[in-house]
Amino acid sequence: MATLLQPSPHSKLIDEILALKEKRNAVILAHNYQIPEIQDIADFVGDSLGLSRQAAKTSAETIVFCGVHFMAETASIVCPDKKVLIPDPEAGCSLADTINAEQLREWKHKYPDAIVVSYVNTTAEVKAESDYCCTSTNAVNVVNSIPKDKEILFLPDIFLGAYVQSKTKRKMHLWPGECHVHAKLDPQTVLGLIDKYPDAEFLIHPECGCVTNCMYLVEEGKIPQKGTYILSTEGMVRHAKQSPANEFVVATETGILHRLKKENPQKNFIPASENAVCQYMKMITVEKLHRSLTDLVYEVKVPKEIADRARVPIERMLAIS
Ligand code: SF4
Repeated sequence: MATLLQPSPHSKLIDEILALKEKRNAVILAHNYQIPEIQDIADFVGDSLGLSRQAAKTSAETIVFCGVHFMAETASIVCPDKKVLIPDPEAGCSLADTINAEQLREWKHKYPDAIVVSYVNTTAEVKAESDYCCTSTNAVNVVNSIPKDKEILFLPDIFLGAYVQSKTKRKMHLWPGECHVHAKLDPQTVLGLIDKYPDAEFLIHPECGCVTNCMYLVEEGKIPQKGTYILSTEGMVRHAKQSPANEFVVATETGILHRLKKENPQKNFIPASENAVCQYMKMITVEKLHRSLTDLVYEVKVPKEIADRARVPIERMLAIS
């Protein structure tokens, strides 16, 4: 007997959000790690870079960014003439918090001739002190584009930095930062799952710093290369659709499973760790999104002087993607 779908307890709020969105001429962007209801309401769901690109090309006056703060900042930097809102300004990022602009200035002072490469998971102030931004996808290409005789300061994710060092065969100074979510994806858990699901493909997400640990293990040969794919979330969704495999171990924040299952209902997705949950991403709720559109809060505006400087490394990152 078919199961009757229960109406969402938020049906009324969701209807109001959709009406408010029209009234405010707003677009709702949601990161892949948002709760399922937020993903389902959003106009676009994707990674931070993809969402910034959506922000840059939208004709909407207002952008509601359902993600963490540095992502909304990046959207604000990329499109300074739009109103960028985040439903909860406390939605931060433990990785971005591992370094501030003052610490970076002190580090640069020790290595005055070094080039600074910052992962996109940083504050606008840190980006403003950087020469290049990068994502996990293009970090190797960004580093390879820098003349070989230049010293490099790479921040803030030590695992991504170690991976890039290994790929480029180039020694860099690494900031000792890490994300508390990907730190939970420890080698033993991952190796245990490969043994438990021998027919599954192993999908590693290279964005957001969440699986740089695993990327490093692949590089070191501790996770088998065969059947292991390092993919962006978009690549992960595409790969899952095209692959003949029916089972996938997914090493990233568990929020992506909603989208993978929704777009591939006949396939089985197993989280590498049920504990890989970013509590900051989950701070955005339907109620907060409703309030954001009702009261036009909380606006994320990067001061012009910082935004103008931060835009330079972001544009370099976009050019090398
Ligand atoms: S998962 Fe980690 S890197 Fe991504 S937003 Fe959360 S704390 Fe930051």
